[in-house]
Amino acid sequence: MIRTELPARTPKLFGTACVLGGSIAGLLAARVLADHAREVVIVERDEPETTGRPRAGVPQDRHGHALLPGGLKQLERWLPGVVDEAQTLGGHLAPLGQQGVYYDGRPRAQGGDAKLLLGSRPFLEARVRNRVLALPNVSTVTGLATGLVYTDDGRVGGVQVGSATVSADFVVDAMGRASRLSSWLEQAGYQRPVLERMPTGIHYVTGLFERTKSADSLEEACVLDLISPRAMPFDLTVASVNVIEDNQWLVMLMSYEEQPAARSLDAFRAVCNDLPPIFRQATSGVPTHGLETYHQADSRRRDFAGLTHFPAGLVAVGDAVASFNPIYGQGISSAALHASCLSEYLTTDPDLTSPATDFFALQQVITDAAWTLSAGADAARHDAITGTKASAEVEQQRSAMNQIIQATLTDPTITEVFAAVTFMDAHPATLADPTFLDRVRTCVGVS
Ligand SMILES: Cc1cc2nc3c(=O)[nH]c(=O)nc-3n(C[C@H](O)[C@H](O)[C@H](O)COP(=O)(O)OP(=O)(O)OC[C@H]3O[C@@H](n4cnc5c(N)ncnc54)[C@H](O)[C@@H]3O)c2cc1C
Repeated sequence: MIRTELPARTPKLFGTACVLGGSIAGLLAARVLADHAREVVIVERDEPETTGRPRAGVPQDRHGHALLPGGLKQLERWLPGVVDEAQTLGGHLAPLGQQGVYYDGRPRAQGGDAKLLLGSRPFLEARVRNRVLALPNVSTVTGLATGLVYTDDGRVGGVQVGSATVSADFVVDAMGRASRLSSWLEQAGYQRPVLERMPTGIHYVTGLFERTKSADSLEEACVLDLISPRAMPFDLTVASVNVIEDNQWLVMLMSYEEQPAARSLDAFRAVCNDLPPIFRQATSGVPTHGLETYHQADSRRRDFAGLTHFPAGLVAVGDAVASFNPIYGQGISSAALHASCLSEYLTTDPDLTSPATDFFALQQVITDAAWTLSAGADAARHDAITGTKASAEVEQQRSAMNQIIQATLTDPTITEVFAAVTFMDAHPATLADPTFLDRVRTCVGVS
């Protein structure tokens, strides 16, 4: 069960807890640790950025980031009032009526009442950072973490930051998808977590444009257009448009090709002209920034739950554990849910002299759920391209998923159930419920 209220008891367990990486996952872990440690130190290589500007350590922050309802609840749990604050400062909480999902230009039926928080990634991160750094026992050290320090009894005792050591009773790796923790562990004679990669080879190209209408007056504030192969003359796979702060539209095109879907503004606008009308409207405004591109070769996850030789006093959260195909928008919500797993672990009187096995078991439920959805779709695409035959069971699941998606075009109830899963508000097992699947089959006319 995922809790949404603050914990009833918060035992003090540590003198100093140290978080490596001061992005969203690290900040939320720091928020939880502030309840359990006298002092929390965040080590981040970038200077603390409180104004919402992009920064070097998070190259993806120029691209579209929406906060899903599942993550929104956890964010509000740990930082009460943060969503209101984000809205006051220019973020937008899009109700169902302003959310559009299209499959090859055909609108999905609307179901449910979930809201999405919209804003640029630096804006959203700044909301979290400002709140977490305002806590009296949280501070930051600017520098590059280069290794761990161990005690004689097999615990982590601190972190190496250049030539200095930050002593700590508990350390959290939140250094993102390129985290060096696995190598550090191996060098110290511990096991390195098995790394699983799902090749994706995605390209993003993003443009920002002036918006003249207020977000509240818009018919659509965020739209996702999912495009099947060969439905367009070029291999665009997903396009999205979101309202963000400072009266702007953020428009993103994603493709699996060798290069981005467009490199010039003219080409970008030309692609958008063939998409649902909101794309043409949004890109007709004055650009507020040049086009930005981003490439990601794979989705990846590290199996910390499967480790048997691991030091005590150490956990990992966020993209350092699992970094998904970004188009599913699961990253921040996963990080927020990891923070809740950390709280669950720390409030149940864990044996801190042993590895945090119970934490990793909780976290694995979150990671597996998100991976099932995003990597499942990429595996289907990969098999289709390479002509690989999946097992009968997997083929059956893929066929069911295609039927669900088809049914969402007409049945709001099916959309509501499906959206809850994609919004990380319900477990993917919900989609295997026999009554639900009967309804799907009836809807699409399959016996
Ligand atoms: C193109 C794109 C679009 C996305 N869209 C969405 C979306 O719509 N919704 C969503 O929820 N998620 C989205 N995501 C995912 C999201 O960006 C991440 O999941 C989220 O940032 C959480 O990441 P994190 O904090 O674990 O790591 P990161 O944000 O990658 O941060 C890692 C931090 O660690 C620091 N660091 C690294 N190494 C060191 C070191 N040695 N010492 C000190 N500091 C270090 C870095 O400077 C950085 O601050 C998207 C991702 C991409 C790539």
